Amino acid sequence: MKISNLKTLLSVSVLSFTLAVPLNTAQASEEVVNVYSARKEQLIKPLLDAFTEQTGIKVNLVTSKADALLKRLQTEGMNSPADLLITTDVGRLYRAKEAGVVQPAITPDLQKRVPMNLQDSEHYWLGLTTRARVIVYANDRVKPSELSTYEALAEPEWKKRLCIRSSDNIYNQSLVSSMIANKGEQATADWANGLVKNFARKPKGGDRDQVKAVAAGQCDIAVINTYYLGQMVNSQDEDEKAAGQSVSVFWPNQSDRGAHVNVSGVAVTKASKNKENALKLIAFLLSDESQKWYAEANNEYPVIDGVAISQTLKNWGSFKSDALNLSELGKHNLEAVRLMDRASWR
Ligand code: FE
Repeated sequence: MKISNLKTLLSVSVLSFTLAVPLNTAQASEEVVNVYSARKEQLIKPLLDAFTEQTGIKVNLVTSKADALLKRLQTEGMNSPADLLITTDVGRLYRAKEAGVVQPAITPDLQKRVPMNLQDSEHYWLGLTTRARVIVYANDRVKPSELSTYEALAEPEWKKRLCIRSSDNIYNQSLVSSMIANKGEQATADWANGLVKNFARKPKGGDRDQVKAVAAGQCDIAVINTYYLGQMVNSQDEDEKAAGQSVSVFWPNQSDRGAHVNVSGVAVTKASKNKENALKLIAFLLSDESQKWYAEANNEYPVIDGVAISQTLKNWGSFKSDALNLSELGKHNLEAVRLMDRASWR
């Protein structure tokens, strides 16, 4: 849907609402949508403000950590004021679905906007941006020709040369889930055992800390989500920027299934009392303009084909992504966690 069509659609429905409500009760029945967001406020608030300006629908935003929001939705149950849950990683969207706090509300119009593998087949959630989990390497110590696949990171040549965060991190759990979905459990268990032997240090810190460790010479390669590197190379902090610039992105598995990708996504809560407005907000977030802004704000990729990407992303080049249906990542999450534990990936 073109943004102009969307605007017409939205303004028509807002207009009919306004006409239907007598002026003296307008305040009491103010149009709202309540959002629980695990994204930082600056990554979403400007878009929500634009939505309000365009539609007159007020957005109440609660931001918190993803797991805390999920717990809160479970505790509040049908009394929850939330209409939408916006969070990162399909593993978490899957958990929200399993926990029964979201509903299969994604309409056919919205489904059509997003590639099938980036949304729930039962229409409980859909992706708003994609992010790739890639290999980065030290420019001065590793040649890209030495790298190939995630699988090859378990080879003995990388012994004590790899930095990666801990196994309690959902991004790693989803990466391992994608290995299980693609290669099976036994092959993934063997891989994890080899990978752990190649750890340069006990896993600690976030993805940016892995890049800093490569920059500091503690390891030669790391596995990270691309947008963290985007933040680093654009940072005002000179040290962080220098660390980011000391590594390059390597796109794994380009001659077979493609690089592992994940999404930040959205779902309508089961308790939603403003479902129509919630769906309007999702449509707004999927407009070309919103997609461009939202992806750029966090150096992520739009889910809509043909939407322009930032210069930072262009610098990393184009890549083939794993077309695996992302629901598979959620399905294999428990198995992935157990497997990582058995491999002593702490
Ligand atoms: Fe993140």
